[in-house]
Amino acid sequence: MTSNSPPPQLPAQAVVTSSFSFEAAHYLPGHPGKCHDLHGHSYKIEVSVSGPISPNGMVVDFSDIERVVNEVIVKRWDHKLLNDTLENPTAENIAATALCLLHEAGLDASKIKLFETTDGWVEVYR
Ligand SMILES: [Zn+2]
Repeated sequence: MTSNSPPPQLPAQAVVTSSFSFEAAHYLPGHPGKCHDLHGHSYKIEVSVSGPISPNGMVVDFSDIERVVNEVIVKRWDHKLLNDTLENPTAENIAATALCLLHEAGLDASKIKLFETTDGWVEVYR
C-alpha cells in the first residue's frame, strides 16, 4: 500500500465527540433530599455529531464543535447559577437544553452526555 492508495470505503458513518467542562451552582426546588439546597458541580459535557464521512474525510471539524459549544454552553453556564436560566436544572434538563441550544446555533449534535459527577451522567439523543 502506498501513500497514494485510495482511502478505505467502510465505515461510511462516524460519530465525532468533543469534551468540555464547566463549574456551576444549582439547587432543585422540588427535590426532597440534599439537592434542594444550593451546591455546585464540576460538570463535564461530551457533544457528539454523527453522520456520513464527507469527501474531505470528516463528519464535522472538531474546531467547529469547540467554537459553538464554548460560545453557547460554556460561556452561558460556567461559574453561573443554573437556576438563573433553567427552572429546574436537573442533569436531564441541562443536557436537553444544551442539545436544543446547540441546534439553534446550527450545530447538528446527535448526542449529549452530561456528567454531573464522575460516577453519574445523563445522555440525551436527538
Ligand atoms: Zn446537584
